[in-house]
Amino acid sequence: MKISMIGAGYVGLTSGAVFATLGNTVWVVRRDREKIEKLKKGIIPIYEPGLSEIVKRNVKAGRLIPTTEYSQCVPFSDVVFIAVGTPEGREGADLSQVYAAAEEIARNLKKGYTVIVDKSTVPPGTAEEITEIINKHKRAGARFEVASSPEFLRQGNAVEDTTKPDRVVIGVNSSKAAKILVKLHKPLRCPVVVTKVRSAEIIKLAANAYLSLRIGFIDQIANLCEEMGADVQDIIRGIGLDRRIGTHYWWPGMGYGGYCFPKDVKALAALYKTSSQEDNLFSKLDELNEKRVERFALKISEKIGALKGKLIGVLGLSSRHGTDDIRGSVPLNFIRVLLRSGAKIKAYDPMAQENAKVIMGSHVEFLNTPYDVAKNVDALCVVTEWQEFRKLDLKKIKKLMKGNVLLDSKNIYTPEKVKKLGFTYLSTGRI
Ligand code: NAD
Repeated sequence: MKISMIGAGYVGLTSGAVFATLGNTVWVVRRDREKIEKLKKGIIPIYEPGLSEIVKRNVKAGRLIPTTEYSQCVPFSDVVFIAVGTPEGREGADLSQVYAAAEEIARNLKKGYTVIVDKSTVPPGTAEEITEIINKHKRAGARFEVASSPEFLRQGNAVEDTTKPDRVVIGVNSSKAAKILVKLHKPLRCPVVVTKVRSAEIIKLAANAYLSLRIGFIDQIANLCEEMGADVQDIIRGIGLDRRIGTHYWWPGMGYGGYCFPKDVKALAALYKTSSQEDNLFSKLDELNEKRVERFALKISEKIGALKGKLIGVLGLSSRHGTDDIRGSVPLNFIRVLLRSGAKIKAYDPMAQENAKVIMGSHVEFLNTPYDVAKNVDALCVVTEWQEFRKLDLKKIKKLMKGNVLLDSKNIYTPEKVKKLGFTYLSTGRI
């Protein structure tokens, strides 16, 4: 098929490259000329394992065509995907990028039929809004339908998740659009869930809210473990073997973060408010999650005293291991809390350092290795699960530090081993 992918970020570029790998012709559109020129040479603007290779291969084969112009692709496409950003807005998601993309798509639609698919995460009812915008701006003779096919990839694992998805959700209002979209996704050989458009829109928000809820839930249990002298990792083993619960996806720590979970939980909470159900689970989940980083700053000051003037090392800056993305980064929120308490911060991240520098500037000293960070610090905080941090020479780290407090918010180390080395070990919900 011929496909336009509007938006060439984590979702658009990955999906575009995977659809191209499956043999489709895919134009990826973004407005930034410099980045498009780089993409034409196979240079990608983000770090995502394996993405660079498939982009290069498909650009070279002429199946993936980067462009800044809707007019060069939308009129020739069978399917147009919208994969632009939907950041947190004042009342739920900010849909301005979606509306702008819809208007430009409308102006460029061909005569005849096009399926327009919203891949961005949006509240229910957005497809109808997109339909209205397109009807207002389209030329005569252009026929179209707006469908929804939300994206479920995880940054850091995007290529694998897009190539081998657990499922594809397709929300449509006609069998014609359903047929086209089912055919497009068939080579992925995964379950395809065909629903009404509004159901598909809610499925995405519900999936992210549920995963956030698991994190919020185990964080609450971890708090209790800390008070009661229990180990949250034992609780996870004990509850996980119940098949209704499962051992997977338990991540106690500083709370959920990243580009999607916080904004999607907030979007659900906002939806409840507009439906006059003020009292809802999602507002509470969001409220508890926002407070989480402060608890960890407090844990450190309980061990080393007032943070003012103390030197603290932070290992990990990205919103998740495996990505250079810092949108919604919990480590950066944690650093902000430490800075507000008057601490001085040294930090390192294998991939997100340059992005973090842009945001944090001179407030943080960025160094080239974890060992440089450890030198002379009063406390060292390991706050993401990069493989590099799992393999640290903790004996060497201990020698380099001035203090002996090691915060392991992701529970990646074995408490007994760390304590044996002479560290005061702080974790999430462990004894
Ligand atoms: P992103 O910011 O990385 O990418 C958005 C892209 O859209 C950018 O390249 C931007 O330049 C481009 N863009 C914005 N307005 C445009 C316009 N009018 N015309 C052309 N291009 C335009 O965002 P992302 O992380 O890829 O997320 C996209 C959507 O997918 C969001 O709704 C997000 O919630 C959802 N999503 C994201 C993830 C994830 O892990 N990042 C996972 C699932 C779903």
